[in-house]
Amino acid sequence: MSTDILRMSELYAPTLKETPTDAEIASHQLLLRAGFIRKTASGIYTFLPLGYKVIKKIENIVREEMDAIGSQEILMPVLQPAELWHESGRWNDYGPELMRLCDRHDHDVCLGPTHEELIVALVRNELRSYKQLPLTLYQIQVKFRDEIRPRFGLLRSREFIMKDAYSYHTSQESLQQTYDDMMEAYGRICDRTGLDYRPVQADGGQIGGSVTCEFMALADAGEAELVYCSCGYAANTEAGECIAFPTVYDVPAMEKIATPGVHTIAELAEFLGIPETSTVKALSGKNDEGKLVVLFVPGDHEVNELKAARVAGGFSLLTDEDMEAYGLHKGSMGPVGLPEGAYVIADRSLQAVPKWVVGANEDGFHLVGAQPGVDFTVDEWADLSTVKPGDSCPECGLPLESARGIEVSQVFQLGDKYSRAMNATYMAEDGSEQPYIMGCYGVGISRTMAAIVEQHNDEHGISWPASVAPAHVCIVPLTVGDEDVQPVAEKLARDLAELGVEVVIDDRKERPGVKFADADLIGWPIQVVVGKRGLAEGNVEVKRRSTGERRDVSLTTLEEMVS
Ligand code: ATP
Ligand code: MG
Ligand code: MG
Ligand code: MG
Repeated sequence: MSTDILRMSELYAPTLKETPTDAEIASHQLLLRAGFIRKTASGIYTFLPLGYKVIKKIENIVREEMDAIGSQEILMPVLQPAELWHESGRWNDYGPELMRLCDRHDHDVCLGPTHEELIVALVRNELRSYKQLPLTLYQIQVKFRDEIRPRFGLLRSREFIMKDAYSYHTSQESLQQTYDDMMEAYGRICDRTGLDYRPVQADGGQIGGSVTCEFMALADAGEAELVYCSCGYAANTEAGECIAFPTVYDVPAMEKIATPGVHTIAELAEFLGIPETSTVKALSGKNDEGKLVVLFVPGDHEVNELKAARVAGGFSLLTDEDMEAYGLHKGSMGPVGLPEGAYVIADRSLQAVPKWVVGANEDGFHLVGAQPGVDFTVDEWADLSTVKPGDSCPECGLPLESARGIEVSQVFQLGDKYSRAMNATYMAEDGSEQPYIMGCYGVGISRTMAAIVEQHNDEHGISWPASVAPAHVCIVPLTVGDEDVQPVAEKLARDLAELGVEVVIDDRKERPGVKFADADLIGWPIQVVVGKRGLAEGNVEVKRRSTGERRDVSLTTLEEMVS
C-alpha cells in the first residue's frame, strides 16, 4: 500500500487563471486550466502528473473489468507494416485518417488507428485448433487517427489512449457470449467511472462491424445525436441506416433467412450480394402481422414483372384486405416465378416511414408520396430509413426523444471479415479449416476522462468521482508553518495515507483563498481544512466537493475514524 503523500508545493500542476481561447467546451477548458493536460500540437496532448493519475485510474478500472471476464492483456506495436493493411484491403479503404509513413528502407508503415490487422496476423499461425478457442486479448495503448477536425481537447484528438480487445471464436454462439460479457463489462466501466450513459444502436463505421453497440455518455457537448425512448430503445442518428433486426425471406420459398449481424442497409446489401451502387427495385406493403414488408430486388426488372412476382409469391406476406386495398387482383398476372435473387425484407424501423406504403392498381404502380415506378438506390433507401427525433420508436411506437452524447466505447461483432480476408484459420473439430469468428471492443480511455469532466463540473471547476480522482482527500492547512496547524495537518495526512486513502496536502505558502480556489478547480472529492480557529475548538472542516456541503468534524472523531 502506498503511503505517499502528494505535496502541492512540489507538484507540477500549473494552473491558468484565464480560459484558453481555443478551448470551447468545459472539459477542454478545465483540464487545461487545472493543469491536467497541455497541448503539444493540434489534437496532440501531454498528460501532466494529475492528468496521468486520472488516466491510470481509468485504465485500471478497465483492466479489472477486462481481467474479470477472462480477457488477457498484451501490448502490440504502434507501428504497423502496410502489408497487413493491404491484406485486409484497408490500406486503400481507410482513407486519410490513417497516418502513413515510409521508413528508411522505403517500406510503407502506418501508426495504428486500431489493431484488427495486427491481432489477426499475431495469432494466425499459432492459434490453430478449435480447442484453443475462444480467446480474448486486449491492450491499452495510444492510437493515431489523423482526424479531419481535431477538437474539444481529449474528446477528438489525433493521438489518444484506447483499450482495444479482440476475441476469436468457433461459432456465432460463442461470439455472442463474449459480446454479452463485454457489454456488461462496458456498462460496469461506465458506472465505475461515474458516467451517466446509454448503450445505443450504432453503425459499424470503418471497423466494419455488423452487430454493434455504442456506449454514449450523455452530454450537451457530445458530437453524437441520439434518439431514445422510455421503453429502453436508443440509437445513434448517425447510424441512420440502422435497420434494427430485419427479417429477410427467401422468395419464392418464403422461408426466413437468418441474417446474423445485419443491421445496416450497406450490410444487408453486402449480405445479399447486391453492390451498394446498384439500383434496387423495391415494392412494399404490410405483412399479416401489420409489419412493413419490402420486396428487395436487385437488377433490371420491370415493375410489372415485380408485381407479378409478388402475386406469384403466393400472397403469403399480404392479407386479402391488403390486396384489395392496393387494388391487386390475384389472378391478373398469372403465375410468374420470382426473379432470381429476390428477397423480401420486413423491417421494424421502416414502419415509421409512410413513403414506403405502396398502392398499386391496373394503371401501374404507385408509391404513396413518390412517383409511380420509382427506383430506389440503396443510398436513397438508407436515407429513408434514418431514425430521427419525433419518429415512432421501432420497439413501442412512442415518439422518439433526442439527446446528445459522447461515444466513450463501442463493441462490434466482426464475424469472419478480417480472418477471411487475411486467411486466418483454425482446424475445426471435423478437421476442416475455418476462419475465426471475431469480435472487437474499444474503450476511449482519454476520451472517457474528458467525458467524466463534462458530466462532473461547475463554475468553480472539476468535481471528480472518487473512483477516478487524482487523489481522494486534500488537506488544506490554512497557515503553513504555524506550529499548531502544520503538525496536525501533517499527522492527519499520514494517518489517512496509512489507511490507504490517497492524500494530497496543500503545503504551499499561499493565501487560503488561492488554495480553496485551486482545490475546487482541480476537483479533489474531499477537502479537509485545518485552521487555527477550528483547532481551538478541536475541529477541522470537511467539505464535499460534489455537493459543496461543509461540516465541522472534531479532530478526535476524525482520528478515531482513521486510526
Ligand atoms: P468517433 O465516432 O467519435 O469518430 P469512432 O467510432 O471512430 O469514434 P472507434 O473506432 O469505435 O471510434 O474507437 C473506439 C473508441 O476510441 C471510441 O469509442 C472513442 O471512445 C475512442 N476514440 C475514437 N476516436 C477518437 C479520437 N479521435 N479521440 C479520442 N478518442 C477517440
Ligand atoms: Mg472516428
Ligand atoms: Mg463512432
Ligand atoms: Mg465507434
